[in-house]
Amino acid sequence: MFSALLTTAGTTPLVLDSPHSGTAYPADFDHACDPLVLRRAEDTHVEKLYDFAPALGVAWVEALFPRSYLDANRDLTEIDQALLDAPWPGPVATDARVLSKVRLGKGLIWRTTDEGTPLYARKLTVAEVQARIARCWQPYHAAVKAAIDAAHARHGYSLHLNCHSMPAVASRFATDFPGLAHADFVVGDRDGSTAAAALSARIVEHLRGLGYDVAYNHPYKGVELVRRYGDPAQQRHSVQLEINRKLYMDEDTLALHAGAEGLKAHLRSLVELLLATDPRSL
Ligand SMILES: [Zn+2]
Repeated sequence: MFSALLTTAGTTPLVLDSPHSGTAYPADFDHACDPLVLRRAEDTHVEKLYDFAPALGVAWVEALFPRSYLDANRDLTEIDQALLDAPWPGPVATDARVLSKVRLGKGLIWRTTDEGTPLYARKLTVAEVQARIARCWQPYHAAVKAAIDAAHARHGYSLHLNCHSMPAVASRFATDFPGLAHADFVVGDRDGSTAAAALSARIVEHLRGLGYDVAYNHPYKGVELVRRYGDPAQQRHSVQLEINRKLYMDEDTLALHAGAEGLKAHLRSLVELLLATDPRSL
């Protein structure tokens, strides 16, 4: 039985979601490239780094399907026509920044890996892309929206941390700055449009206080999940947090390393800080 996501309801204003850590490769994926190459596209182990959160009353939404099957952090219009055997029947993005990602093969359904390798030896049918949307994208977004709406209804505000990880060095076909050596963390709020800048600053300062090198909105500003659900004027604050994988795993073997436990304690302190923060008084 295909299971797209794992969710835990919360009791606090805080919602965490992990769209890219899924490792359950669906039987109908039918990719042609090496599975290990696909695994490098995962934000592997991110769900383990935050596994303390539900016990603190934090709502949790986690994709179980892999990012290379469908990227839940993309809009439904980010369709790569070059991948399909027939014209897409729905609207297709025309924004230049979005189109550049789609042309790199990083739309809703990826055409190529970060190394530039084609995923498929065939075209995909419109029906199979629609089926992935119905089985993965729709339930994932419904769960994130429901968790944020519930938190907001209970508390009059919501805090949403969109959880990711990034390679130590951006790969050659990465969407934004190929070859860039990443900071320890990148905090993104799409230039203050998805969360109060003071809230993001609090997150940045907390992590810097723990000794980390932290970048803000560079090279990652945040993508569809924070764009869609962040609305600071309505006290709905969404922040994307990218963690450098070198802090917790071996990027070649994909195994967690000894750094993971210390990192987890620091993430717990960040979650506790967010639980103690009312953005209305920032
Ligand atoms: Zn990610």
